[in-house]
Amino acid sequence: MTRALLRRPDPDHIEIAHDGQSFRVAILRRPTARRLTLRVSSATGAVVLTLPTRSSLATAQKFAQSHGGWIAARLAKLPERVPFTVGCIIPVRGVPLRILAREGRGAAEADAENGTLAVPGEAAHTPRRVREFLVREARRDLSLSVATYSARLGQRPARVTLRDTRSRWGSCTARGELNFSWRLILAPPVVLDYLVAHEMAHLREMNHSSRFWALTNELCPHVEEAERWLKRHGSELHRYG
Ligand SMILES: [Zn+2]
Repeated sequence: MTRALLRRPDPDHIEIAHDGQSFRVAILRRPTARRLTLRVSSATGAVVLTLPTRSSLATAQKFAQSHGGWIAARLAKLPERVPFTVGCIIPVRGVPLRILAREGRGAAEADAENGTLAVPGEAAHTPRRVREFLVREARRDLSLSVATYSARLGQRPARVTLRDTRSRWGSCTARGELNFSWRLILAPPVVLDYLVAHEMAHLREMNHSSRFWALTNELCPHVEEAERWLKRHGSELHRYG
């Protein structure tokens, strides 16, 4: 019997214990991996172990276990997650709003002056309703910015799509389709507006050349402010919901 036949398929994760806590470690086998690597995603808090094809699961388990302290330290440093549930505070256009339950039906209602986001319906549906509210508001602000910059640029995108992207806040395809993260609605308005200007400038300049930046700065008055904000606070937007 060959070794290959003896090998069972990998589970998608292993569990390790450290100091009374238990951690879930996702397993990712990569033929191109040269050694075992452990990562903790700052966006999601997911722990991922990448291993070469030839490494055994026992080796992976031992490796992850020996890094239990490192995993615990990394996770402890991550900003706490904020769920979309009653009592939690989330930023909308940079303004902190407390999620409240309200009587009746219909959509969630934001009151920036009082700092509340009133959500109707059963508590079990609150997270979905808050998310729907944020996506709807993001779509509205994006449409307004797209209209403004379309007029300024004399060119409009083929399509605008909202996603929950982890690595990029916005992107532009060769076909002129723009994608944005709905999480931009959480940031101060200049940030979403700048992202639109940035991606719209790509309709003309599909690169980050000096010509691209000149055009972006010509279109949008707060490029630097928004870039600075994203660098400092961008990753925090992933802790909500
Ligand atoms: Zn770009």
